Amino acid sequence: MKTDSLVTLDRNHLIHPVVNYRAHEQRGVAVLESGQGAYLRDSNGNELLDAFSGLWCVNTGYGHESIVRAAEEQMRKLPYATGYFHFGSEPAIKLAAKLVELAPASLQRVYFGLGGSDAVDSAIRFIVNFWNALGKSEKKHFITVERGYHGSSSQGSGLTALPVFHRNFDVPLPNQHRIPSPYPYRNPVGSDPAAIIDASVAALRNKVQELGSDRVAAFFCEPVQGSGGVIVPPKGWLKAMQDCCRELGILFVVDEVITGFGRTGPMFACEAEGVTPDLMTVAKGLTAGYAPMGAVLMSEAVYQGIAEGGGAEFPIGHGQTYSGHPVSAAVALEVLRLYEEGGLLQNGIDQTPRFEEGLRSLLKHPLVGDARNRGLLGALELVADKEAKTRFDPALKLADRIFETAYRNGIILRAFGDNILAFAPALCYTGQDFDRLFERLERTLNAVLEQPDVRRALRY
Ligand code: PLP
Repeated sequence: MKTDSLVTLDRNHLIHPVVNYRAHEQRGVAVLESGQGAYLRDSNGNELLDAFSGLWCVNTGYGHESIVRAAEEQMRKLPYATGYFHFGSEPAIKLAAKLVELAPASLQRVYFGLGGSDAVDSAIRFIVNFWNALGKSEKKHFITVERGYHGSSSQGSGLTALPVFHRNFDVPLPNQHRIPSPYPYRNPVGSDPAAIIDASVAALRNKVQELGSDRVAAFFCEPVQGSGGVIVPPKGWLKAMQDCCRELGILFVVDEVITGFGRTGPMFACEAEGVTPDLMTVAKGLTAGYAPMGAVLMSEAVYQGIAEGGGAEFPIGHGQTYSGHPVSAAVALEVLRLYEEGGLLQNGIDQTPRFEEGLRSLLKHPLVGDARNRGLLGALELVADKEAKTRFDPALKLADRIFETAYRNGIILRAFGDNILAFAPALCYTGQDFDRLFERLERTLNAVLEQPDVRRALRY
């Protein structure tokens, strides 16, 4: 079908995630047609270096034949097997065991869903069930971190602490609360790591005290805040939050939907700090985006609490038709093999210094106020005044201009509304791919800086 016809059909019928509907109708869709390695091709024949792994998910890169074969073989053999009525399939069972082997030692049981949002939603339901099962039914309050993202389900969107996900959606709910983000670049306590960690621990302690620890169910956090602008907390932050939760008697839930599967270096970001959460949510890199799948992993204690609470008579009323989908599970098993035996995890670790150096080298650019990363998850924050860290006037729509210019220069990046540029290159990136990325990125920043109103907005 011709691109023009697709654009018209899209404009008339397809609702896109997290866009301004009117702006999308006006702009029209950009149709992506094929991908190979770190590169995408659009329907106009433009080749684009994907610096965002789709939506921080295609960690393997595109075009892996072995993943396609795994899906094809499973589809041919058994395209669907329900998990209801005590049925199961080999790939789902093997995958659960493999995830338990790879995940922090505290996590022993796995429930599969379709992506990150429903993994978070399942986690919420399991937590509510757990506390009720234990007879602590007053434990109903959830605490998250400002600028955190935990998906857009009807409850998860309230744990998400980004205004766009709340506006006109009647969330957060009265039992959903937040503490400040450990944002090193813009933290009222300054950039000293120990001070940032102490401030977060104190904020969590105060919030739990204010609500009453017998009323708080759980604390959710991301090891690196992704959609909030790639906010990298100091090393030791995650462990300190875990210790605080344990002391206060609330469940500690780590959302590794972005940070899992080599994105920050190790298989899971929890590993770097020896963190052992009560629950952990994963998705994205689990299947590298080749098929939809997410999961919530839980400790034996949480599982046993729910199982005992269910008694001998009733099923635990949580399920989805596609929980443990055999094709997605077969894809995930092959993707995990590529991370480990295929050397992708190691390549990600080996390439991280090149990525870091490229980001840091742009700190000298007039538009760039901060450069940060953990592993192959990074960001540049653009400011009008480097000293005062002043943000650009939103009326400039700088993020849109950067995105469009980057696209014309052959790169896809994420440009957040507050002028944070996010990068999540695939773990298959080579040194040459990084050279190309940073050359095109610098050209993009220079071109935008040439625009007279942008230059005028700069204060230096
Ligand atoms: N949790 C985190 C930390 C995420 O980054 C995301 C998505 O970006 C989600 C949950 C939701 O995942 P999904 O978009 O697959 O529903």
